Amino acid sequence: MNTPMTALSALSLALLSAPAAGEAPTLESQADLASTDDTLAWDFVEGITTEVGPRQAGTEAEARARAWAMQWLMAKGFANVADEPFMMDTWVPGDIARARVTAPFAQDMVVLPLGNSAATPVGGVEAEVVFFRTVDDLRAAPEGSLKGKIAYISHQMRPAQDGSHYGFAGPARWVGAGIAASKGAIATVIKSVGTDYHRNPHTGGTSFPEGVKPTPAGALSLPDAENLERMFARAGGRPVTMKIEMNPRQIGQTQSGNVVAEVVGRNPSLPPVLLACHIDSWWNAPGAFDDGAGCGIIAAAAFHVKHSAQPLRTIRILMAGAEETGLWGSQAYSKAHLDEPVAVGIESDFGADRIWRFDSNFRETNPALHKRIASAVARFGVSTSNEVATGGADLNIVRDQKGALVDLQQDGTRYFDLHHTPDDTLDKIDKAQLRQNVAVWTQVVGILANQETAILTGTPIPAASPIMQAQ
Ligand SMILES: [Zn+2]
Repeated sequence: MNTPMTALSALSLALLSAPAAGEAPTLESQADLASTDDTLAWDFVEGITTEVGPRQAGTEAEARARAWAMQWLMAKGFANVADEPFMMDTWVPGDIARARVTAPFAQDMVVLPLGNSAATPVGGVEAEVVFFRTVDDLRAAPEGSLKGKIAYISHQMRPAQDGSHYGFAGPARWVGAGIAASKGAIATVIKSVGTDYHRNPHTGGTSFPEGVKPTPAGALSLPDAENLERMFARAGGRPVTMKIEMNPRQIGQTQSGNVVAEVVGRNPSLPPVLLACHIDSWWNAPGAFDDGAGCGIIAAAAFHVKHSAQPLRTIRILMAGAEETGLWGSQAYSKAHLDEPVAVGIESDFGADRIWRFDSNFRETNPALHKRIASAVARFGVSTSNEVATGGADLNIVRDQKGALVDLQQDGTRYFDLHHTPDDTLDKIDKAQLRQNVAVWTQVVGILANQETAILTGTPIPAASPIMQAQ
């Protein structure tokens, strides 16, 4: 159910929608107002984390999140709010996740299963642990050398503003267990792909290659992983053994869905501007940063653009389902809508900290538009670069159409402290930084949604239809 508006947020909304001297505010003034007064993005993320909480893909909790988001979008006046269902292979984490070093220094460790992990036998498995500093070291291990053993992968991640170290450390989680299983390992544990030092394992998806039977796979919290490494250093050649027990399982096909909504443009026959986020989270986190905030940001921006003036193009919101467990919603959306051209896609899925850089994939093909956006967001402290935007995970449709993409890069310095942990909670969101996101998005989406020429190339689009000329 939707949250009744508090008196304060009602007042802020009234202020935000009050046109100066009886006129609609300009896009610029609306974006400026959002940077100081927006309450919508917070209202969304506060609401969904409070009333729904964790929303694992393909489960009843994710269905409740969709219903909640649809209510919220309708209450805020969005058009064409819908749930577009799709089927997916669903994995659930179970309720047992235990790890204990049994020798030479017996101690419990904090572990959580990785998505797609198999279960251990009841009572667990116990075996010698083989230590790999990096994924490449694991790749270099001889075939069959891990038979009957547990692989441990270290592969330490470091914080970076652009989150780029995720690309280095991520493979430990994404492919480590599959490689180890292919060499005979009966289970794999990794050092969490994360940058905090809480005893919170970072979960996330892993995968097993075709023909390799899934094994139990878990993430140790960083403090526990480092403890394990110290045990190896002090073991003096004695084997390090571990007992693991977990009971996650695949439950077959279940239904998920994509929540869509629109601000209808003056010329709905033009390709829309697509704003994406994902509505699911891992079971262990209320998903404030990942990605309740992103959904709040995109919806708030669309709302503010509409308030400055009805945009030329339709603004379409895509709150994708089942992103975390394999981009099921992104793929389903592309499959369902591939023959409907999208003008440009933008995604918010990197927390709620300040946007610091604007990238596009039309800097060379439509330099005038790229420059116009870059100069419009400079007042919010946003730079540009020569990087080419590639779009987020939920923008498969735009990549499949080889369309225009914008990336609004958020500061990810602390993102991987929280990512996929129980610490991804509302209190981590800084309201001023959240509003800066909404302001930048409002400015950028407003420009794009009123673009009269093709966004990727700047070439003219077909003449305006009568519906537009009538405005
Ligand atoms: Zn995410």
